[in-house]
Amino acid sequence: MSKITVIGAGTMGHGIAQVAAQAGFDVALFDIKDEFVQKGLSKVNENLAKGVEKGKVTPADRDAALARLHPSTDLKSACDGIVLAVEAAPEKIRIKHDIFEQLDRFSPAEAILATNTSSLSVTEIARATKRPSHVCGMHFFNPPHIMKLLEIVRAADTSDATVAKAREFGAKFGKDSILVKDAPGFASSRLGVCVGLEAMRMLEQGVASAEDIDKAMKLGYGFPMGPLELTDLVGLDVRLDIATYLHAELKSEVFRPPEILKRLVSEGKLGKKSKQGFYKH
Ligand code: NAD
Repeated sequence: MSKITVIGAGTMGHGIAQVAAQAGFDVALFDIKDEFVQKGLSKVNENLAKGVEKGKVTPADRDAALARLHPSTDLKSACDGIVLAVEAAPEKIRIKHDIFEQLDRFSPAEAILATNTSSLSVTEIARATKRPSHVCGMHFFNPPHIMKLLEIVRAADTSDATVAKAREFGAKFGKDSILVKDAPGFASSRLGVCVGLEAMRMLEQGVASAEDIDKAMKLGYGFPMGPLELTDLVGLDVRLDIATYLHAELKSEVFRPPEILKRLVSEGKLGKKSKQGFYKH
C-alpha cells in the first residue's frame, strides 16, 4: 500500500489525511504536538461517524480508513517510504520553508512534495528543497472530505511529470482538479478573499448585519455560503495571513486587511475553531 504524509493536523490537514486514507493510502498525520494530532484524528472520527449516519460511508470503510491513519510527531519516520507529502501548516513562508527543507531530506527522491498553501508562492517554497521539479501546490478546499475542487499549482520549476502525478492523486482522492500558474492567491483565493474582505468592510461601515450580508450573497447570487460565514469556517487568522500577503504582493487596496479582521484576530476570535468569529458557534 502506498504511503502519504500530511503535515499539520489542523482545519485542513486532518481532512486531507481522511481523504487520502479513504482513497486507500496509508497516511502518517504529523503535527508538532501529539495533542494536535489527536485532535485532528478525533475530527476524522467525527466526520466518518457522520458519513456512516448519513449512509455515505459503510462501517467497514470507516474502520479501514481509520486503520490506515497513523499519528506522528516524528517527521523523519512520517516521511519514510512516502510517495507524496501534503503540507498543511500555517500560512507563513518561514514555517513552510523549514518544513520543505526537512521533507526534502527525509523523503524518497521520487516523492512529490505538495503544499496546501492558499496564496503563497509555491516557487518560493520549492526553493527550500533540492528537488523543485517535484514540488507543486495541491490546494484543497474546506472541508476537504466534502469539497470537490483540487487546485494544482504549477510553480516555475514544477515538471510535467509532477503535474501529471498530482492530477492522478487528485483523481484517486475523488477530486476535480484545475491547473493554475503560480500567481499570488492562484485562481481561487484571490477572488474568494476579495469578496470576503469587502463583506467585512461593509459590516464595519454598518451597511447591513453579518446575517444580511451573507443572505444577500446566498439568496441573491447563489453562493452556497455567505462570505462572512465562510471566513468563520476558514479561520480569521488564516484569512488575515492571506490578505496581508496578497496586499503586499498584488499592491491592491482590495486586499488591505480590514480593521475588524485584525481586531477579531487579536482578540482570539478566529471563527469556528475558537467558537467565535463574525458569528458565535
Ligand atoms: P490551522 O491553523 O487550522 O492548522 C495548522 C496546523 O499546523 C496546526 O495544527 C499546527 O499545530 C500545525 N503546525 C504549526 N507549525 C507546524 C510545523 N512547523 N510543522 C507542522 N505542523 C505545524 O491551519 P489550516 O486552516 O489548516 O491551514 C493550513 C494551510 O492550509 C495554510 O497554508 C492555509 O492557507 C491552507 N488552507 C486553509 C484553508 C481553510 O479553509 N482553513 C483552505 C485551503 C487552504
